[in-house]
This record gives sequence, C-alpha cells and structure tokens, in this order.
Amino acid sequence: MTGYAPGLQQVGEGFYAYLQPDGGWGWSNAGLVVDGEATLLVDTLFDLRLTAEMLRAMRAAVPAAARIDTLVNTHADGDHCWGNQLLGDARIVASRRTAMEMGELPPATMAALAEQAPNMGELGAFFLDCFGAFDFSGIELVLPQHTFNGQLTLSVGARELQLIEVGPAHTRGDTLVYAPGAGVLFSGDILFSGSHPIAWAGPVSNWIAACELILAMKPEVIVPGHGPLATPDAVRELKQYFEYLYELARERHAAGMTPLQAARSISDDRWARWGNAERLVVNIANIYSELDGEQRPVNPLAAFEQMAQLAARG
Ligand SMILES: [Zn+2]
Repeated sequence: MTGYAPGLQQVGEGFYAYLQPDGGWGWSNAGLVVDGEATLLVDTLFDLRLTAEMLRAMRAAVPAAARIDTLVNTHADGDHCWGNQLLGDARIVASRRTAMEMGELPPATMAALAEQAPNMGELGAFFLDCFGAFDFSGIELVLPQHTFNGQLTLSVGARELQLIEVGPAHTRGDTLVYAPGAGVLFSGDILFSGSHPIAWAGPVSNWIAACELILAMKPEVIVPGHGPLATPDAVRELKQYFEYLYELARERHAAGMTPLQAARSISDDRWARWGNAERLVVNIANIYSELDGEQRPVNPLAAFEQMAQLAARG
C-alpha cells in the first residue's frame, strides 16, 4: 500500500499518528497522546535510527514530547518495541503476556540472520526483501516494568485511555489503546491497513472477536499498526477476510492439502490490492491448527521458509 504521507499527523485534539509508508514488513506506525505537559507514546519503531527520527519529529511538532512520561507497547514484535531504550526513564506499560513474549526473539538474532542472509538462498533473499532496510545493531531491549491482564485505564492529563488486551491473535498479548472521548483507536497490529494480516499466535477466531469488539466501540479514526489511517470499514473488511479464509481453509484441510498448497490454490483475487500476500500461508496454517484443536505456536523461521516459497510463485 503506497500513496499516503509519512510522518506525524494530528488525528484529534492532543492525538497524533506517526506513519511509515508503505506499511509492509517492519514499517510500523506509532502514536502520541498529549495534554499539557503530560505525554504518552504508543509503540516505538524497529530500530534506533527510525525511533530517534520519530522522536525528533514529535518534539518539533509538540514541544511537550521532549519528555515522554509513559510508553505503551501494543505487542511484542520488534517493530513496535525495539526503540524502547531511547525513551529514558519513561514508564513502559504492556500486557503481561506481551512482556513475557518480548524477550523470545532477541534483536541480536535478527542482526545475525541479516548478516547470514546473503548465503541462505531463497529464504535469505526473502528475509532481506522484508528486513534489509533496518539496522538491528546496538539494540538493547528494554522490557515493560508495568504489566496488566485484561484491561487498564490510563490518564494523560485529562484524557482517558483504555488499554484492552484482545490477544492472543496477531501475537500472544495484543493490546488496543482506545480514547473513548476522542473516538481515536490505536489498534496495534490487530489492524494492518491495506495489507494481509499475519496470525503469529491466533486463534484466528479470537482475532475475529477482536474485530467485533472494535466495531462495537465505533471509533472515528483508527491508527493501524501498519498502513494508512483507517475507519471501522477496514476492520469490517478484515473480519470478512478472516471469515472467508476460515471457510476456505476448512475445505482445503478436509481435502488433505498442506497450508502451502491451500494458499497456492486461492485464485479468488478479492484482496489483490493488499500487500504481503505471502502471509496467507501462515494464516492458513494457523487456522489448520485451530481446526485440529491444538493451537500450535508458529515457528518464525519455518514460517518465513513457507512465505518465501509462496512469494516466489509465478
Ligand atoms: Zn508490526
């Protein structure tokens, strides 16, 4: 998805989105909430350079952002928390499951993979396509000190924010950050706007329930984890995508097809304009494990191998 402006945009009185086109692998969005001197950041970015650039842009537009009081990490993926170390003594908040998941894929592992990728054939080439633009050196992961289960209400000056844990779905502890008074929702990666989502954790039925929850909240503007600003229409479309994929996976599963065969068999191009179609194979595998009654954790390396094969078709 291209055609939207990068950088900081106001989305409400005291609410800002920081967008990174094109929203593909690692190109995540973040958010800023301000009231007087009180500040809260929603997510950091994938590396130190990008996060520092974002913080500079925020300070230039909103002087109070020179000091961030609170950082919320919506989930454990590196493109939402690997800039945490640049936030000084900000209080870092996340769901307990997110905090536990964060340490599992260390930045040093990604740095090592990026170094080895040129010798890793098709998989390495795909890995560099996805992540070659980022610099994983010097990242020291700073974990949240303040965790919660389920829901937590935070105040930023007079503005009230509701943190609502809806995972496991994209990851194990996905959290929505919602400002009911302003109608602004920071969805994290529960919404990829303009590209295929990816269900690392699942179950997918839980993600469908998260879509229903968002639709019931009726936000006016959604800052997605990736892609351009969105409205509930994008969530409705995402829900339809998962419902459609669920039925399709059920048929392919019953026919004995592997997730890769199932993904390759999809000729219906209703989401042709969405980016990252290789994620279909991971989403189908995830639905398979739900159908089998045992939610198997996705092995990231095996998932990238499958996606590299799917991306290489045609
Ligand atoms: Zn992300």
